[in-house]
Amino acid sequence: MTPSPDPKPLQYSAMQLAWLHELGIDKPWLPGDTRAVPAQQSAAEGGANAPASAAASTSAASTAASAAAAPVPSAGRPAARGAATKPQQAAAPMSAVSIAAMTALTQAAAAAAPDLESLTLAASACQACGLCRQRDQVVMGQGVTQPAILVIGDGPGEQEDRKGLPFMAESGALLDQMLATIGSARTRDVYLTNLVKCRPPGNRLAQREEIAACHSYLVRQLELLRPFSILALGRNVAQTLLNTDEPLQNLRGRVHAFEVAGQKIPLVASYHSAHLLNHPADKAAAWQDLQLLRTLRR
Ligand code: URA
Repeated sequence: MTPSPDPKPLQYSAMQLAWLHELGIDKPWLPGDTRAVPAQQSAAEGGANAPASAAASTSAASTAASAAAAPVPSAGRPAARGAATKPQQAAAPMSAVSIAAMTALTQAAAAAAPDLESLTLAASACQACGLCRQRDQVVMGQGVTQPAILVIGDGPGEQEDRKGLPFMAESGALLDQMLATIGSARTRDVYLTNLVKCRPPGNRLAQREEIAACHSYLVRQLELLRPFSILALGRNVAQTLLNTDEPLQNLRGRVHAFEVAGQKIPLVASYHSAHLLNHPADKAAAWQDLQLLRTLRR
């Protein structure tokens, strides 16, 4: 998709920078800073906000890196998606060592990607967790680089899996409408992605180990996209990114910092658009969260 150019270059005013400094965000990505985070060094660090389970040990990393070429047993890609031919599978619980090894595997692959295309290729070959067995397509994301807002959802659903693009169904349409209220769009100044890049079967939430395995792809995406701000959609995403068990109610309505590659990115948590479809009374609060996001730039 060719994004239409944003007529207003993104920037922070001195007041906004002072406000972000008060919030502990003293190194936001600045417009015009086109320095790419070099491949290899960065994603392997996992970011300060990496979920606890995503923190693999160095020894696990080297073990996994040497095992990177070996396919996961019985993890063949199915020929076609279809409920009749693909029974839903519950992911088996994994040991801490398996999670660390699996996470180190994706860290090595993601860290080596010099650009988004290479990262997509790496993710498309990924067999680090069981979600690869039933996916039709890896759904990396959609939108512009250096986005004003990077939206993070839970994971692809059925339509997203089929089309290879995020937020294609009803909740995606509502999200587009919500973004339009602050003058934003995925074709203009937004990038949409998810915690996990493969569809959890039956539209269940991704499990902890699946999120941990996929985290390096998200971190590398952030390094390559250099977003101005992050909108975390829903409790699961907010709690994962902020590494907390606090209820969404306590997390929304204020600006958090998500650290990646030594940069702090302002993060606002809000209701997931899928939740808003069933709880329209929460739309007013979600609108306030979007206003908060908008105040982060001029
Ligand atoms: N579609 C996505 O891509 N992500 C979600 O979280 C929901 C729908």
